Amino acid sequence: MEPDAAVGTTPGSGVPTGEATRAVHAGLPEAEPYREPLPGPVLAAHYHLPGDPTGADYAYGRDGNPTWTVLERAIAELEDPAGDARAVVFGSGMAAISAALLSLTGPGDTVILPADGYNLLHRVRERLETGGVTVSTVPTPGPEALRAVESATDLRMLWLETPSNPGLDVCDVRELATAARARGALVAVDNTLATPLGQRPLELGADLSVASGTKALNGHGDVLLGYVAARDASVIERVVGWRKIVGAIPGPMEAWLVHRGLATLELRTSHQQTNALAVAEALLDEAARRGDVTGVRYPGRPSDPAHDLAARQMRRFGCVIGFTLPDRGFAERFLGALRIVEEATSFGGVRSTAERRGRWTTPDGVPADAVAEGFVRMSMGVEDPADLVADVRRALEIARGGA
Ligand SMILES: *Cc1c(COP(=O)(O)O)cnc(C)c1O
Repeated sequence: MEPDAAVGTTPGSGVPTGEATRAVHAGLPEAEPYREPLPGPVLAAHYHLPGDPTGADYAYGRDGNPTWTVLERAIAELEDPAGDARAVVFGSGMAAISAALLSLTGPGDTVILPADGYNLLHRVRERLETGGVTVSTVPTPGPEALRAVESATDLRMLWLETPSNPGLDVCDVRELATAARARGALVAVDNTLATPLGQRPLELGADLSVASGTKALNGHGDVLLGYVAARDASVIERVVGWRKIVGAIPGPMEAWLVHRGLATLELRTSHQQTNALAVAEALLDEAARRGDVTGVRYPGRPSDPAHDLAARQMRRFGCVIGFTLPDRGFAERFLGALRIVEEATSFGGVRSTAERRGRWTTPDGVPADAVAEGFVRMSMGVEDPADLVADVRRALEIARGGA
């Protein structure tokens, strides 16, 4: 970890700013007597607009909204506290991902995607290829990505997802970004799993940090949102232009809820990490005693294969753990027996959730993620660690008995 970089100063104040402080104050306007600290959602399809509209801050609701503006400022502060990045919010993570990939690439370009990234990436790949882009995929861990970058022609964008969802593998952002940028390519990192408190891709050399705010950033399981953060003004201009023509905008209420939730981002992610470590340890203990839990993954655990690399580029390790149970039936009995951990998809919320990822298939019946039938992805919420450990151990006992 890089603890020193976590502390900056509020510009002009001389007051040290740690990450919790930054999250609490991110994007808020200057304090004004008798005004609210976080302005409420501005519900407007259009704004009063006299005369020449050139340079108007707000004209039409698809182009801008003051509630987005303060949230975008907040996300930029968290993604790039010492830099000058800007953020652009979207109606979902996929809206942000599609905007970044489709607005910044074109015919003749090459794009490298992770083979084990978010499962809708392969649908975006189809779009890219229809538009004349050559796409190749590489696994997140291991040396293949670097080799692919070094041998690519007309490389326009390298897309990384680290840690990857759901496999929790990690790649070296600094190394890959250096190699890709030396070839004139843009580097984007899907920062959904880590959140900007866990990882700052722009500081690691990436050009874009793209994320689904639906997960841990919002953290309450009640909003979809996405964003792109970047330092380069021309990148921002392209994604803003894309948002305008596609209309992939977040509602003001959604944007406001996410901003409201940022105040507890540090509390939530710290507690989720505590819970993830406790449950991962319990699962390893079960694995040692009974042998029916295998492949326990959490990058925050020192013995995890991804830990050393993760610790070099991450400041906290997220809320997701992965493990494999003997088969589909065992995993289904386990999920059905949990009382605190709810069976649901998505992750990052205050309530712990888990699911068997193999239940998701494409319309052709192909598994959406290349995972074993008994693979379980679990997202740790902010309950008490002892309760979660007891819930998981008890559900394992029931699953063992019920074959
Ligand atoms: C969920 C997720 C997305 C998609 O985000 P939505 O907000 O659901 O559109 C993209 N990338 C990763 C890593 C995700 O987990």
